[in-house]
Amino acid sequence: MYKNKVISFYKYVAIENPEALMKEHLEWCRENGILGKVYLAKEGISGSIFGDEDAISKYKEHLKNYKIFEDVWFKETTTDQIAYSKMHVRVKEEIVNSGLSDTKLEHTAPKLTPEQLLKFYEDKKDFVIVDARNWYESKIGKFKNAITPQITHFREWPKVVELLSEHKDKTIVTYCTGGIRCEKASAYMREQGFKDVYQIDGGILNYIQQFPDTFWEGGMFVFDDRKVLDSNTKEELKYIASCYFCNKPTSYHINCHNQDCDKIFVCCHECKIEKEYCCSEECRTSENKRKKYDG
Ligand SMILES: [Zn+2]
Ligand SMILES: [Zn+2]
Repeated sequence: MYKNKVISFYKYVAIENPEALMKEHLEWCRENGILGKVYLAKEGISGSIFGDEDAISKYKEHLKNYKIFEDVWFKETTTDQIAYSKMHVRVKEEIVNSGLSDTKLEHTAPKLTPEQLLKFYEDKKDFVIVDARNWYESKIGKFKNAITPQITHFREWPKVVELLSEHKDKTIVTYCTGGIRCEKASAYMREQGFKDVYQIDGGILNYIQQFPDTFWEGGMFVFDDRKVLDSNTKEELKYIASCYFCNKPTSYHINCHNQDCDKIFVCCHECKIEKEYCCSEECRTSENKRKKYDG
């Protein structure tokens, strides 16, 4: 078993003074050698913490000591990789940038458990499943038959919803990594007149832990240094993407190291090294390449 863990969590809850909490939290994390990333806003908290068993349980205990966070749900994965090498605590306008400032969280859709989603598939229920993440996330992994919008930022969600308007009377299921984006994505859809919307409780993370090798296809993108979680063991469900250069199945992607290009593309480890982390010969010979290899 891997001895390190990553926990991710969020909670929408009113925080009166996020700046003060930020200072206090950062200081505590530094004193205790905690690594990861935490966002605070007046609307709540979201974060991802990496460490060994002791560090993780110490962190959980600390956070739960705050009355407002005592019921926070920590979603846990184990890893042999380094997910974070620093600690960041930041105050933001929103815990996930959505731009949906008029969307009310009380309109958020009911949650569908992983079991219920599994049953939707097994019963061949007539439903539309929509990925609320970005194109580079769904490119390497998605639920079977999911609609995968070609957006590069969650702020583009209203555009996606407009394109889905023909499905207003259908059963809709939205999903994202851990559930945080869907809280608002599903609320926005209901506000736009979608009648039967669900969001997956705990997101993909919760589903793949309970039902790997079923209806999730490929790997899962994560916003830390691990980049991707391989979720399945069945060969035919391991990869849905392939290397830009050699076509080998992989879930890995990098940003082109020519900073003027910065294109995200799927690339296997061998080609990544051979092509010096660049998408083309032109980029490889550019003057404006990153100084350090990353990814
Ligand atoms: Zn390759
Ligand atoms: Zn390039």
